[in-house]
Amino acid sequence: MKLDVDALRYLSRDDFRVLTAVEMGMRNHEIVPSELIDRIASLKHGGTYKVLKNLLKHKLVHHDASKYDGLRLTYLGYDFLAIKTLVNRGVFTAVGRQIGVGKESDIFEVATEDGTVLAMKLHRLGRTSFRAVKSKRDYLRHRSSFSWLYLSRLAALKEFAFMKALGEHGFPVPNAVDCNRHCVIMSLIQGYPLVQVRELQNPDTIFDTILGLVVRLAEHGLIHCDFNEFNIMIDDDEKVTMIDFPQMVSVSHRNAKMYFDRDIECIFKFFKKRFNLSFDENEAEHDDAEVDSDSDECRPQFVDIQKVSGCLDKELEASGFTRKDQEVIEKFVDGDVEKDSESDGEEAEDEEDTVDQINDTSVVNLESLSLVKEGEDNLVEDASKEADQTENNL
Ligand code: ADP
Ligand code: MG
Repeated sequence: MKLDVDALRYLSRDDFRVLTAVEMGMRNHEIVPSELIDRIASLKHGGTYKVLKNLLKHKLVHHDASKYDGLRLTYLGYDFLAIKTLVNRGVFTAVGRQIGVGKESDIFEVATEDGTVLAMKLHRLGRTSFRAVKSKRDYLRHRSSFSWLYLSRLAALKEFAFMKALGEHGFPVPNAVDCNRHCVIMSLIQGYPLVQVRELQNPDTIFDTILGLVVRLAEHGLIHCDFNEFNIMIDDDEKVTMIDFPQMVSVSHRNAKMYFDRDIECIFKFFKKRFNLSFDENEAEHDDAEVDSDSDECRPQFVDIQKVSGCLDKELEASGFTRKDQEVIEKFVDGDVEKDSESDGEEAEDEEDTVDQINDTSVVNLESLSLVKEGEDNLVEDASKEADQTENNL
């Protein structure tokens, strides 16, 4: 999806107020009637309707008359709310080029006031998992349209919490800087995904390091679940960094063994194919690397209990990412696995569901994000609080 942040410069205080009102309305409306938006935003002299036209023009909201007449936020609208909030917090001041298109995310460079470049990951759950859309719709029928925004927010919250905790426990992950809505800000890794690497000086050492990470994660009670050549970055000094954590599960998860085996298998297969590494049979079958998913103990069987340094999954609960959030996300992830073969070929239904290629023309220097004037700080938060109040009174 193209993120034309340029439009952000021209959006007024009222535009953001109304955009926030749409977001608030979506808490309990799939499509928000314009009268409700007007009441939440409470602009004078019917100003809301004029503003809505502008938001529609910029594709920040989408007009939907399928069930009744109303509006809903688009991913772009959600991007803008997150970006504006983070800019107001002083986390960054400019958005640069797109550096990655993940399965379900877009990654951009952003710059802080002192010129440090960070990475911004915008989660886009549901974008490519069309196979799973049907099952998700069933599960989430009460929240359907908003559910994609809701799940993307949960994925970001989870990723941020895990990245922070893993970093604190010495794992090689990007530094978790901040998080808002579906957006995670982290340090920029100066490297390449392993899938792009054709040659390594020390493939054996790298292989051991990577496998060691899967084991160490398990010792901490966690399984990555998407541990493959796309989610491992290598820099010029052959330093390894792991990324992409929204799908991680605890070793006590009922499918823990399957996920763990799959992670290990991916690494073996990739190193065998790409770097011609050969393994002895026993090692490849990793017979004793079993995860005991029936056990309440948060440890895989092969891990020496003396070495277990703690159950990170429990620790994470204290971080604001609750067990309930985890359950919601796990239902989503499990659905992906279980329904994988069922409905291949389903088409995207929304304009915002299509994956654009990295597009150099989307490079925009947002120096003038300072156009988000002082005094407008906390506008979005203020508007949210106010909108909450209004909504409660309705
Ligand atoms: P997804 O969950 O959609 O797969 P990822 O987190 O794997 O998203 O990111 C997609 C791509 O973006 C990665 O393969 C990588 O090329 C790039 N990327 C992600 N995070 C960073 C980062 N912190 N620094 C540099 N590049 C990154
Ligand atoms: Mg990835």
